Amino acid sequence: MQDITDINFIRTITERMLGCFNDSINIESTEIYSSICIGIALYPDDDGSGENLLKYADAAMYHAKAQGGNNYQFYNEKLTQQVHKRLEMETRLRHAIDREEFLLYYQPILDLSTQKPIAVEALLRWQDPEKGLIMPDQFIPLAEETGLIADIGNWVLEHACKQLKEWDAQGYGELQLAINVSSIQFDNKLFCSNLESILQKTGLSANRLELEITERIFLDISDKVISTLNNLRGSGIRLSIDDFGTGYSSLSYLKQLPITTLKIDRSFIMDIPQDRDDMQIATTIISMAHGLEMDVVAEGIETQQQLDFLTSLGCTQGQGYYLSRPQAAETITQWLEKSIKP
Ligand code: C2E
Ligand code: MG
Ligand code: MG
Repeated sequence: MQDITDINFIRTITERMLGCFNDSINIESTEIYSSICIGIALYPDDDGSGENLLKYADAAMYHAKAQGGNNYQFYNEKLTQQVHKRLEMETRLRHAIDREEFLLYYQPILDLSTQKPIAVEALLRWQDPEKGLIMPDQFIPLAEETGLIADIGNWVLEHACKQLKEWDAQGYGELQLAINVSSIQFDNKLFCSNLESILQKTGLSANRLELEITERIFLDISDKVISTLNNLRGSGIRLSIDDFGTGYSSLSYLKQLPITTLKIDRSFIMDIPQDRDDMQIATTIISMAHGLEMDVVAEGIETQQQLDFLTSLGCTQGQGYYLSRPQAAETITQWLEKSIKP
């Protein structure tokens, strides 16, 4: 908008734009309801360069989204700080692979009846020279937004596969390796061929690998994703649904897709035995998994009571601080030494 003398004029126009979206839109006889988010940056008040104005308007738009959508927000100083922080983190993240700042922690997944480890899950950490150890929740979303997740994901796959081969050589039996894969990684055409070459390079057979995906993948599942999942499973790779029960599960996809394992989200485990509803949900997921002939893993077991309850339901596998915390490879090696070769 040009030649603005009064900021209220902007408000009037944006509110009118929002109002336009109160009604449905008719596209090929389908009624569509949409909401909009508007971010506003002002020239020259906010900045003099077009590039920055767009960036700032974008930040304001994301702020409007975070406010629940269907509203508008003006750009402000606090957003600048957020934008700068984000840009700065993005720059550091871009260099993290070359600078060898990533490392993997591993958390054992146990067979609850024998208490022996059957798998390890690789969990990414970022050792930033300035900020210290950064947890994945703090940087994976940014890695996904910026596309950096593709390279980071390959790094994780390669290093975890190598580590598993080392554990093989040390005689810890045929442990499975669980790796978290973000749904963005599946959109990358090269995902499967990269994975194949990593398996070839490290000499790990495909049936030792389990990819953990989240229900987010069901949100806009395409034929391409379905065929990717089928190809992966066809090559022997196992597929599990992580954080099961928290996302957008479509039970019909569970049947159609070659899913091997359900991982019950920690949020349903943590309040056992106080929360009757959670206990009912855990019970239901376990029996559904059995019915569908899938393995079921309980995440986030923190107490003996939780362990007893889950075992009594016939939950076959579990993972959690009570059994073992995620640790760096060397510490997990010592843990494996004790639990596999006592
Ligand atoms: P996730 O895959 O569901 O991993 C389980 C998370 O729960 C881990 O957090 C683990 O440390 C934590 N956890 C395990 N047992 C317990 C417990 O008993 N109590 C509590 N309070 N927490 C427990 P972490 O390592 O911070 O990872 C968070 C998430 O980041 C992971 O959730 C996963 O979604 C994502 N992530 C981690 N590594 C990668 C990766 O290499 N690639 C991708 N795309 N995502 C990753
Ligand atoms: Mg996981
Ligand atoms: Mg999980």
